[in-house]
Amino acid sequence: MSNSVTEKQAKRPNYFDYRREIDRLTGIEVLDTFEKFSQRDDVFCRALWDEGVANKKVKDFYQGYYMPKAKARKADGFSQRDYALRNAAWHVCNLIREQKDGRKEGFHDHFTSHDDGAPEPYAFQSDHQATEDIRKVAAFAGADLIGICAYDERWMYDGIYDTRGKSKPLDIPGDLPNVIVTGESMDKDLTATVPSALAGSATGMGYTNDCVTLLTMAQYIRNLGYRAYATMNDSALAVPLAVQAGLGEGGRHSLLITPEFGARLRLGKIFTDMPLVHDKPKKFGVKEFCDICNRCAKGCPPKAISFEGPSDKIFNRSNLKGVVKWSTDAEKCFKFWVNQNTDCSICIRVCPYNRDYSVWYNRLWQKIAGGRFRKFALWLDDRLSQRKRMKSAEWWPKKNI
Ligand code: SF4
Ligand code: SF4
Repeated sequence: MSNSVTEKQAKRPNYFDYRREIDRLTGIEVLDTFEKFSQRDDVFCRALWDEGVANKKVKDFYQGYYMPKAKARKADGFSQRDYALRNAAWHVCNLIREQKDGRKEGFHDHFTSHDDGAPEPYAFQSDHQATEDIRKVAAFAGADLIGICAYDERWMYDGIYDTRGKSKPLDIPGDLPNVIVTGESMDKDLTATVPSALAGSATGMGYTNDCVTLLTMAQYIRNLGYRAYATMNDSALAVPLAVQAGLGEGGRHSLLITPEFGARLRLGKIFTDMPLVHDKPKKFGVKEFCDICNRCAKGCPPKAISFEGPSDKIFNRSNLKGVVKWSTDAEKCFKFWVNQNTDCSICIRVCPYNRDYSVWYNRLWQKIAGGRFRKFALWLDDRLSQRKRMKSAEWWPKKNI
């Protein structure tokens, strides 16, 4: 194991035993070549400092998230009407994230918009009671999913990117034993319109809802007298934590696939010392299904998704080193986003797990997909599912949203 995870950093006394056991349960294979991920290498940060990624087009792309610089065009899904909604969906999130001193909260830094909490921790009758309460509060605050796992130093960022151009140390204490992982679903119909600026509204609203949920939950925990650090894309890798917290499995497109929403969701994390019971990782056949399916790889316009099996192969510095998994080429992916002037989620739209699981036949489909008749499930999806792009012009008059 890499020296980047030291006994000193991992303050839990049984941390190394925990790590072996959780890897056995999740199936995540961490090699001796493992290195913690530096946020500076995230492609969205590289877009701010790395000449191989950053250019004028990238600058325009980011500015386009604020009117009137959106550069609307005549194509379906890219009109002013579509950008107006996309940018409005991001608006509250943008207000919360832009902070002083080079902080970009929820993306580079953890959230700090909190009031003082209570000085002494509330005495719960048991960890189970505390866990029941936090689940109730999460649902009340808007989380669609919640899972809880132990703090795992390996997935914490090895340095945070400061928007003024430097890396700085991660400022989340290493002695918080628990991580609450939340999921906010993205609108299915809007996602069906990708590629389009309109589909980016589902992403923006997912983040905005995530901000509200995470800030509310963290404030509740602080009000109880415990420590809580709310994070979104910042501070730690969300997917391995979500897998450890039992929310789902990683798919070929390198996103989390959940039984409730497929990959159609955004993740948040709260690091806390509130006493909580951990969830167990949940396997429901995603790895085996992805082995026989390559829809996302076929559907990805810049071919950023691998057709091969999981491996420790990396495409560039934006990949995590030393973990056997499916990785994507973030440089190709981001270039495609910039060229089409909005984010993309085609791999989410075309994934057979992207379904409405409130209806029984989709829940049945998932059971079939998770067993030995998975090829039949793939065949069923080919024949029966509508996975073509929905036009923006069809979405706007649609009544059932
Ligand atoms: S978001 Fe779009 S470009 Fe990126 S991997 Fe998915 S399909 Fe490919
Ligand atoms: S599209 Fe297929 S291969 Fe890709 S993540 Fe979904 S199930 Fe796996």
